[in-house]
Amino acid sequence: MPGDPVSDEPAPRPTTRLAPSPTGALHVGNARTFLVNWALAKQEGWRVLFRVEDLDTPRVKPGAVEATVEMLAWLGLTWHGDPTVQSADLSPYLVAMRRLAEAGLAYPSELTRREIEQAATAPQEGSAEARFPPELRAPVYPSTFSDDGTNWRFVVEPGETRFVDRFLGERSVSVFGSVGDFVVWTKRGQPSYQLAVTVDDARQGVTHVVRGNDLVGSTGRQMLLRRALGLGPEPEHVHLPLVRGPDGRRLAKRHGDTRLESYRAQGVPAERVIGLIAGTCGLSREPMTAAEFAAAFDLGTMPTEDVIFTPEDDAWLLGP
Ligand code: GLU
Repeated sequence: MPGDPVSDEPAPRPTTRLAPSPTGALHVGNARTFLVNWALAKQEGWRVLFRVEDLDTPRVKPGAVEATVEMLAWLGLTWHGDPTVQSADLSPYLVAMRRLAEAGLAYPSELTRREIEQAATAPQEGSAEARFPPELRAPVYPSTFSDDGTNWRFVVEPGETRFVDRFLGERSVSVFGSVGDFVVWTKRGQPSYQLAVTVDDARQGVTHVVRGNDLVGSTGRQMLLRRALGLGPEPEHVHLPLVRGPDGRRLAKRHGDTRLESYRAQGVPAERVIGLIAGTCGLSREPMTAAEFAAAFDLGTMPTEDVIFTPEDDAWLLGP
């Protein structure tokens, strides 16, 4: 397993994490986020953890976890210790659920998505999650948590959650206005993404979170959970622009096969993939190693707009 060469030494405090979900294969878009995350860590001396987020996702195919780890290693990224896999131990999330229930901050709700959408005045445009209005809250909350085959929701009060993002600047998110009481434990007997990330970032001592700007709204939810659970200071956030297809939608299968493993299978070296990414980060587009990228990268000159991955980029990757 690739690891940080200094992994025997006491861990330095500032810590970040590479946190892929092993749902789809790694493509140029998420590789860019991981590469920038790793480059910032190298520049600033942060410890890099590897956490596989395999909860609250569609079924994880056998071998997907290993393949994700393998692709990031192929890119030349390194990390401290062995990757952790969220599904390996649910006890930290159960502890958090008990605490939320005892504090009267979470309750079970059997309402389906359809029922919630019908009750809400207007579903949020383009939102993956229907807003859960406070009127639908259970009238009485049990004070003990039980994994009873229902969704448990977190009580969200009106108000704005503010944070200063190192890349985006000041941000203000209304969790109440956007999603309302959100799910923290799913009827499938697992923590939701929001709860799992909050608990893990706190218990793993994560001080720097670098991820795509589609998760700005989630940061608001995770901040509320962190406060409710008394989990200590919030990490610094860096939300990066996304890579999109020519149609403006987030890069995905519909845009053709941009999986790193396909490029690798066609003989494309990792240095070329990194070179392409470098060209979208304000550096010159030429093959380079991850270490060379980290030496040259400057967050201050990284373009702020989302990036379009074009057929021309695909052709460049495949080489002359
Ligand atoms: N696992 C998430 C993803 O792959 C990232 C979550 C996070 O960085 O908080 O999109």
